[in-house]
Amino acid sequence: MQRRDAGFQSVREWDNANFLHPWEGMETLGQNDRTFTESGEGIYVTTETGRRLIDGPGGMWCVQLGYGNAEIADAMARQAREMAYFSPFNNASSVSARLAHEIAQRSPGDLNHVFFTTGGSTAVDSALRFVHFRNNVLGRPEKKIVISRHKAYHGSTYLAASVSGKERDKSWLDQAPGLAHFLPDVNPYRRPAGMSIDAFLDEKVADLENAIRAIGADKVAAFIAEPILASGGVIVPPKGYHRRCLEVCRKHDVLYISDEVVTGFGRLGHWFASEEVFDIVPDIITCAKGMTSGYVPMGACIISDRLIADVAGGNAKGATFSNGYTYSGHPVSAAAALKTIEIIEREGILEHVRKVTPLFQERMHAMRSLPIVGDTRGMGLVGCIECVTETAGTDPLATDRALGALIDTRCQELGLILRPIINMCVFSPPLVISESEIEQMFDIMEQGIRLAADDFAREGAA
Ligand code: PMP
Repeated sequence: MQRRDAGFQSVREWDNANFLHPWEGMETLGQNDRTFTESGEGIYVTTETGRRLIDGPGGMWCVQLGYGNAEIADAMARQAREMAYFSPFNNASSVSARLAHEIAQRSPGDLNHVFFTTGGSTAVDSALRFVHFRNNVLGRPEKKIVISRHKAYHGSTYLAASVSGKERDKSWLDQAPGLAHFLPDVNPYRRPAGMSIDAFLDEKVADLENAIRAIGADKVAAFIAEPILASGGVIVPPKGYHRRCLEVCRKHDVLYISDEVVTGFGRLGHWFASEEVFDIVPDIITCAKGMTSGYVPMGACIISDRLIADVAGGNAKGATFSNGYTYSGHPVSAAAALKTIEIIEREGILEHVRKVTPLFQERMHAMRSLPIVGDTRGMGLVGCIECVTETAGTDPLATDRALGALIDTRCQELGLILRPIINMCVFSPPLVISESEIEQMFDIMEQGIRLAADDFAREGAA
């Protein structure tokens, strides 16, 4: 199909000339040929050329209820007409207070205090600032180090980026000095040859405890972990990992921050994965993305009653949590989030996710037999394929062989967008995806991988 609009060439030019994208690669700056979307419906987006593609990553793991949901759009429009904005500082709009209540009702244990942010990075930033604030109030200002893991991604503010462990992200920008300590990542696929999963699990839990002992528990404030390490390559830890890490944290008076920016709001078939899937009640949960189904930005940091009790009630005279955003609990975002919660409940979306997960995971794991696919992994409606050289077992492809991008290109030609990450492709479609749409998505993916494998073989032979 031809471009609809003769002016489109200008869009591409303006994009290249003026739009500095997240993680912009400077080598290719100004020469990109991106896919531009114009509309969407359910799991599909329509490009500027009129092509209809399945949105495999569901935006960025966020469009839970799919595109074109008129109810969410209407709720936002109504709120904008009635009360677009009101300062959250000394007063509040009632819709934000209602949302805080609804979230507290669905969060695990005593996590009842919701601090609204503008997205996931600011949620993590706020969590870290709260952890530091609490230790200042408790009179132990030395207890500030945060333990994180290699390959973790927790966001792009200076603090959130400083506890993020992806090599690429650490290489060209500074991180707050002395703030974070990184543990090796917890990828069972890359465990040493011959090591059992149980031994690997023991080793990974010991990594945390050894680090706390080496640094000194009096200096370690918190451990931060994604239940499933998402953009670092959908790494699902061995069963029991989070539970045991929480026990280690409790033993050493270290707080546990569960970063549920991806896993929250239904992605694994529950409001939050911490308690229902991983059997932990952390001290703080961060969430964002699926909260508003991606319709408008919002995030939150949900803090336990216990931690709030530590800093409230005159423990420190004049103590103020000096952290907040003009748009904390923005009414239009709150309206979108409330509508998202209402629809998820009314339409039984959590149950739906649990019902279609086995098909999703089965189809994904079946791709392990395809050429160049080394590992397939995931949980709920999150998946990842990791490519390897054909001959070398689990050896990852060199990072400059962007096989993920090759697969994404082939899949886009066939009608499916993926999210390539170096030698991997990740996918997390809208939660409303039907069983037949899951079949369609994986049929395309299989075909795309075969074509990419041929491309790769040709490229290799050249
Ligand atoms: N934490 C996790 C686990 C994430 O995956 C992300 C975003 N991919 C963030 C935090 C940051 O969220 P945001 O991009 O909304 O700032």
